[in-house]
Amino acid sequence: MPELPEVETVARGLQAVLPGRRILLVRLGLTDFIEDPAALERNLPGAHIESIRRYGKFLLLRLRPGGAEAKELSMQIHLGMTGRLVVCSAEAPIPPHTHVFISLDDGRELRYTDPRRFGCMRLLEGEARDAVLRAVGLDPLGITEAQFREALQCRRARIKALLLDQHVLGGMGNIYTDESLWRARIHPARLAAKLSEEEIHRLFLAVRGVLREAIALRGSSISDFVGPYGSPGEFQRRHRVYGREGLKCFRCESRIRRVVVAGRGSWFCPRCQRAPRNYSVAGGTGRAATAAER
Ligand SMILES: [Zn+2]
Repeated sequence: MPELPEVETVARGLQAVLPGRRILLVRLGLTDFIEDPAALERNLPGAHIESIRRYGKFLLLRLRPGGAEAKELSMQIHLGMTGRLVVCSAEAPIPPHTHVFISLDDGRELRYTDPRRFGCMRLLEGEARDAVLRAVGLDPLGITEAQFREALQCRRARIKALLLDQHVLGGMGNIYTDESLWRARIHPARLAAKLSEEEIHRLFLAVRGVLREAIALRGSSISDFVGPYGSPGEFQRRHRVYGREGLKCFRCESRIRRVVVAGRGSWFCPRCQRAPRNYSVAGGTGRAATAAER
């Protein structure tokens, strides 16, 4: 599942080429991941693209409709597990599983390809967009340490669960959560409210550091993720705990372990990241991570 750095990579790539373009035509293949496909075909042609930005883990394409009296329009796009949004020449070969073709006025096409179709696409009219944006948590790259502390410490939950909660922080998923907690030397099952000031400070820096480095490397390509021009990300080479069960910790050489916290496979170093008192690791299993967790 693409997380903040992967979606940000796509957003930045598309933001460099899409604004100002006018949509000429929409062609759809399979549409089971689109809410109201007819609305796309009806409303997109003639609209101008104003911007494309990331919110949490999804993309929002803002459009200025063709008709003067038409309402403001946005298209919300979740890439799901395997979604790809690419701009290319209309003559470029069409990869299998391409289901959305949006023709642009410069002869190029915005194409959406998604083999597993766990993604989702929908058009938001007028105020519907504001409601969607209000539900997204704070952006980890745009907040202060004080906001970060307040968001985490007022809730009684394990730190891993809070970091993953999209209403608390928008954009963090399993990879960057585990990497941040390892970097900050905090066990995923710790209660957020019991973290010390120093630990929160370390975690704040770790989250931002991990996300910024991952964006600089265009995200992690562990399944099918590729950026908007088809180039894979490289941050997976910097993973320190994620998916490394049984391998040595980069800091202390202890063996990385995996437990289930907040319903998710969680990798950590048992020495660098001390478990909370009375915490049983019975939830840990030796099973390999499922595709959904990776
Ligand atoms: Zn360690």
